[in-house]
Order: sequence, then structure tokens, then C-alpha cells
Amino acid sequence: MTDGATRQWICQSAPCGARYEGTDRTCPQCGRTAAPAATMKADGVVALVAGLFLVGMMSVLILMLGPQGYVVQGSSASFNVEASDRLVSLVLLAAIWLIGLAAIASGWTMIAKGRRSEPLYMLMLLPGFVIVVIVGLILGGFVLQG
Ligand SMILES: [Zn+2]
Repeated sequence: MTDGATRQWICQSAPCGARYEGTDRTCPQCGRTAAPAATMKADGVVALVAGLFLVGMMSVLILMLGPQGYVVQGSSASFNVEASDRLVSLVLLAAIWLIGLAAIASGWTMIAKGRRSEPLYMLMLLPGFVIVVIVGLILGGFVLQG
């Protein structure tokens, strides 16, 4: 990346956030590392699209799982799912849904401010942890083994 080309940089330090042009990835104002504005924007778009995709998919799946149970093209009778298993599935989908939402917000922040949002990354940790626990339970044979 040290091609010497002049580009736009955005300081990644939250209190600073300076935008400047140059060849140096060290912020001239606070001395911290900056990121190329174009890269941040591209990453933001990726996060935004991925987030929208996750939220859309999970919304559909949650609606399908809904209070009525599995309603897959009117063939609900063929699915006889335990209530506890359905709850586990719903929590799993909701956790993924939350991650998608955080990805949208974080992508938007990257596009609008040119900066990654650390609080939003923290926000993704909790549903991420929930997913790991549930997948662990499924793999361990504690749930969804009806
Ligand atoms: Zn700075």
C-alpha cells in the first residue's frame, strides 16, 4: 500500500476523525493510524449489504417459525416440532437478526463517517456469543435432536 499515491485518509481515532489528503497513513493531527477513505466506504457498503441480507433472511425465517409453528407452504402437519426446539431456533434466528442489524448500522457509520464503530462491534459480541452457545448445544445433542 506504500505506492506513494496521494489519497484521502480518515483518522480512525474516534475523538479525532480528521480527514486529510496525502501519502502518509499516520494522522497529522493526533498521530494515530488512518484508513483510506475509499476502503472504508467499500467496507461499509459490504457490511451494509451483508446486514440487509441477514436481516431479510432471518425475518422471513422468524415469520415462518412464528407462533403458529413451522408453516412451510401449508405443510405444517408434516413438521412436529417440540416447543423448546422452536424457542431455541427462534433465539438463534433472533441473534443472527441482531448481528445483521448491527452490521447495517456499522456499515452505515463507515459510509457516513469513514470510521469503524467500536461500540457496534461490541454490540455484535453478545448475539455472537448466544449463537456459539446454541450451536454448541445443538452439536452436543442437547437440543434439536427430536
Ligand atoms: Zn487523528
